[in-house]
Amino acid sequence: MDDATARTRLQNMLGDLERSIAVLRGDPVAVRERSAADAGADLTDADRTRAMLDVATRQRNAVLSALKRLDEGSYGRCLDCGRTVPEGRLEARPEASRCVQCQAKRERRR
Ligand SMILES: [Zn+2]
Repeated sequence: MDDATARTRLQNMLGDLERSIAVLRGDPVAVRERSAADAGADLTDADRTRAMLDVATRQRNAVLSALKRLDEGSYGRCLDCGRTVPEGRLEARPEASRCVQCQAKRERRR
């Protein structure tokens, strides 16, 4: 995946996340758009909404930092070991900042 493709995908993700976050925070305009788009979505459960907001916010931060790495020219390299993150991983998760091994290590430490 080249940088231009990565940037487009990240920017699309960012747009989606911004919209989701606005909806989850209860922005009235976004809520209206959303309920038109997928009527029946149950957003009344406050805990679930908070959890989703949490995930969306974390993901948005990951996308933003991936875009920053694109600008700096370090995109696609693992933050921890410096090796190239495999193409397949970036295809699945363009915002990934670490190779599978280093990510697994971090998650174990948590
Ligand atoms: Zn690594």
